[in-house]
Amino acid sequence: MQKLIAGNWKMNGRLGDLDAVAAIAGAASAYPSVDTALCLPATLIAPAAARVPGYAIGAQDCHMAVSGAHTGCLSGAMLKEAGASLTIVGHSERRAAQGESDADVRAKALAARAEDLSVIVCVGETEAERDAGEAEMVVLAQLAASLPDEAASDWLSVAYEPVWAIGTGRIPSTEDVAAMHGAIRAALQARFGDDGAAMRILYGGSMNGDNAASLLAVPNVDGGLIGGASLSAEKFLPIVAAAAAAN
Ligand code: PEP
Repeated sequence: MQKLIAGNWKMNGRLGDLDAVAAIAGAASAYPSVDTALCLPATLIAPAAARVPGYAIGAQDCHMAVSGAHTGCLSGAMLKEAGASLTIVGHSERRAAQGESDADVRAKALAARAEDLSVIVCVGETEAERDAGEAEMVVLAQLAASLPDEAASDWLSVAYEPVWAIGTGRIPSTEDVAAMHGAIRAALQARFGDDGAAMRILYGGSMNGDNAASLLAVPNVDGGLIGGASLSAEKFLPIVAAAAAAN
């Protein structure tokens, strides 16, 4: 399975940072065996898509409605029109700060799909849940309720992102990553059959150029969702290179 390395710029990046987008897109083309993408703040989607035509520019959220009284929100059609080809939904920062439920995430994934956007659905446990021995139960419950029945490998990827690993510099052991990704794979296959074996499962949480090779070598780790280390070509490209080497 071709690995996907997707950057999540979160609320970072202004017009002056389009040079970094161009540098990443240009350098990533040297690794045709790896799919790469950058999920940018909404204000940068159109200018980035114009600056790097053909490169996969994504959003970080997509509202479930087509239009209407949803102040401050953006629909799939708006994101598509701006030049996005994919979107993240259900990032833990949005689940926590915006109170997004699994049902919301499922509806958002379907709304994005209706506009032909690819979707990365995020799941992950908190530190308290891991300490309580509930990590797998929590993640599998989120997965079951966040994925629509229509999910298919040609448009949907799952990102396993332990909340306690995001932006902290801490990562789970490769054994724990293997166990969680294996459990997610089994759940996907049980629900979606053969296509569940083909759905990409990304790891996210403090992945960087130093730890990418070992994380991407774990069975069922089909790529990465990268926050802090996606903001510059210097930090992002070593992860893409590690994915190419792991293919
Ligand atoms: C993320 O927010 O999706 C993420 C993985 O962030 P970081 O790489 O900075 O931990």
